[in-house]
Amino acid sequence: MLELPPLPYEEDALAPHISAKTLSFHYRKHHKAYVDKANKAIAGTELDDLALVPLIRKLANDATQQSLFNNAAQVWNHDFYWRSMTPKGGGRPKGHIAERIDRDLGGYEKFRARFTETALGQFGSGYCWLVLGADGKLKIQGTTNAQTPIAGTRDVPLLTTDVWEHSYYLDYQHERAAYIDAFLDNLINWDFAETNLAAIPQREAIE
Ligand code: MN
Repeated sequence: MLELPPLPYEEDALAPHISAKTLSFHYRKHHKAYVDKANKAIAGTELDDLALVPLIRKLANDATQQSLFNNAAQVWNHDFYWRSMTPKGGGRPKGHIAERIDRDLGGYEKFRARFTETALGQFGSGYCWLVLGADGKLKIQGTTNAQTPIAGTRDVPLLTTDVWEHSYYLDYQHERAAYIDAFLDNLINWDFAETNLAAIPQREAIE
């Protein structure tokens, strides 16, 4: 049985960059619907005993379970997206994540340009991620629909933004670029990325 995780802030906490109306619909309708649909599908099956990430990994390579994979992955992706934002976020990173962005991505300005390009270049629905790749280097990655780096890759996600239209249409209509600017300049939660980076066990490839 999967649960709808609580939002890490109030529904109006990200306004005016993301309105309470957008956040309310996105969390209470979209995110909750993914939880409900996944639970309906796993009820009474052996899958019901799995935690969310093992469930997603088990479903990822099973073409007969595409619908359930999509719903389960969307449960995880949304929780990760909420935590990738914070009310007084945005701007330049500090700490280790900043050093790694300088080293692996050529500095903050190049990160910003590349993240924007990837988020805007995602045709249709999907996500834009900052991940630690299996080669030990940070990279920016676009994914389609419900796809997620935790499903079968060795990439470790550090933060994400949701570029499905339901994320921004009420506030920005078709202007995905304005939403991505708001995400980067006012919402991005670098402390979350830093925490995720610190939680990764040392791997030989990292240094
Ligand atoms: Mn969404």
